[in-house]
Amino acid sequence: MEIEGGFHDECGIFGIADSQDAANIAYLGLYALQHRGQESAGIATLDGDKMFIEREMGYVADVFDETRLARLPGRTAIGHVRYSTAGASLLANAQPIVFATGRGPLALAHNGNLVNAREIRKGLEESGALFTTTSDSEVILHLVARSRAADLPSALAEALLEVRGAYSILVLSREGIFAVRDPNGIRPLSLGTREGSPVVASETCAFDLIGARFERDVEPGEIVRLSRDGFSSRRFALANSTPCIFEHVYFSRPDSRVFGKSVAASRQAFGARLAREHPADADVVIPVPDSGMYAALGYARESEIPFALGLVRNHYVGRTFIEPKNAIRHFGVKVKLNPVREVVEGKRIVLVDDSIVRGTTSRKIVRMLRDAGTSEIHMRVSSPPTTATCHYGIDTPTRGELIAANQSVEEIRRFIEADTLGYLSAEGMLEAFGRPLQATCAACFTGVYPVEIPEEELEKEGAVAR
Ligand code: AMP
Repeated sequence: MEIEGGFHDECGIFGIADSQDAANIAYLGLYALQHRGQESAGIATLDGDKMFIEREMGYVADVFDETRLARLPGRTAIGHVRYSTAGASLLANAQPIVFATGRGPLALAHNGNLVNAREIRKGLEESGALFTTTSDSEVILHLVARSRAADLPSALAEALLEVRGAYSILVLSREGIFAVRDPNGIRPLSLGTREGSPVVASETCAFDLIGARFERDVEPGEIVRLSRDGFSSRRFALANSTPCIFEHVYFSRPDSRVFGKSVAASRQAFGARLAREHPADADVVIPVPDSGMYAALGYARESEIPFALGLVRNHYVGRTFIEPKNAIRHFGVKVKLNPVREVVEGKRIVLVDDSIVRGTTSRKIVRMLRDAGTSEIHMRVSSPPTTATCHYGIDTPTRGELIAANQSVEEIRRFIEADTLGYLSAEGMLEAFGRPLQATCAACFTGVYPVEIPEEELEKEGAVAR
């Protein structure tokens, strides 16, 4: 499920170089990445020396039609879907961001969040820079534009050494597309080929849709150029790989391979481990669709309790759902989920979801299931308690609103009104993921931030550095 109130995750990026119908393929790629951001969508193409850009608030399918795609000529394209994690939700903040520079036109698409953007921006503004967006990503283009380095990749490398945080970025230029992952490789970015043309995407599910073959991930600290000559690579920083485990817990699509691993397999492993850590005496295992599906499967297999679909999700509730005025009641989660009475009535159920953030979703689901005649509800969560805010581009509320940052597991159990509540342990999650803590970003669960967060960012959310 997604956090109630229409919050969604960060961003998705896609690029294709030296291909016919580049804009059309970028459109398809973005379609497959829609789950990573539903607020705005955009595509930039380059035809000779001319940059073209189309972007708008809304879903990919609503933003683009044939006429609009026809306004994007050229054999190289980058695209972006966005949910704002930094900067307000304005059209001006929709990406790609386009700039005319001394090195020709540049377009940038960014997934992640820079932790020192505010500081850099202040410095740039003091020396006369005019920013066109409130987004953190724009500082990268300013730094590139100002660099005196001999060539564009060197200017990019120079700029990237100034910024800190999480960034998987694409820069469209006359020299092709530059694809970059930050030295910690917090957000994913994969390379592929389609009929000989190099492609790049946040997740491999985009390759499946366009019929591209996965080649490899962009390495942390690497800049890869995609052009008619294929791929060429250089490093701009030493890697200290700490990929975001939450991509596997919740964000990425289960049919993607992210950080070299199947997301579906990780989720099943989390569920199996959860079953060992928190067994339950129950008749059925029921997932909260869609986010709890694979973990519930893993739980059911491991516990040998039958898996059943006891909640149905309405897939057509978009961000635009507005409660009718004078509604007879607050619809809340009911708009999205409804129990199947035949499946749950009189049953002792294990209810599996990937995470509890504020706790309001679980509480409403538990109530709905009780109203549908469930006899016992054993809530199981396939990740540890979410106790800290993400500063690297995933939309999480401030610590004050994170229920697990402020309440014990028993208090949370009482709040959500479940009979029992069990969370996967951090050790269990890391073991199932196959990486030690120091080689993972699990900050939302541990409060340990692999890239230092400036004091003023922490103060903003009322957090205490730990
Ligand atoms: P809450 O009601 O705040 O506890 O929300 C919990 C639900 O939000 C779970 O079903 C999660 O799958 C989902 N979720 C967790 N993190 C996010 C996020 N960053 N964006 C959207 N949904 C999320």
